[in-house]
Amino acid sequence: MTIAKPGPTPVPLTEPFWAAARRGELLLQHCRACGHHQHYPRVLCTRCWHRELDWVPSAGRGRVWTFTVVHRPGHPAWTDDVPYALAIVELDEGPRLLTNVVGIDPVDVEVGLRVGARFTERDGTTLVQFGPEDS
Ligand SMILES: [Zn+2]
Repeated sequence: MTIAKPGPTPVPLTEPFWAAARRGELLLQHCRACGHHQHYPRVLCTRCWHRELDWVPSAGRGRVWTFTVVHRPGHPAWTDDVPYALAIVELDEGPRLLTNVVGIDPVDVEVGLRVGARFTERDGTTLVQFGPEDS
């Protein structure tokens, strides 16, 4: 029996992010008042509390800020995927995303590794993952 992998549940606040991912684009919220970029989506700027936020494209590049290699998944749906790299990637624009590092053996992932966005279709949702920048 195959167990479906739980996925994101878009809500009105996050739908622009997921719609962009389906187009192969990474969007960030950008504050009109102070210029701050942020992720995950929120109703106000986390720096100045201004409520007028735009969606702007990210270059989709950054570096591994921290990571772990998962050998025992927290959910049985990922049993066949281990080992895999679960990471926080710091984008060049500043925000940090919880994501996976793909396209590289997990033992070769390291803090500071330059990565670029990869868009992976799964069960009707496009996930934003990252892989080595030069691949
Ligand atoms: Zn702001």
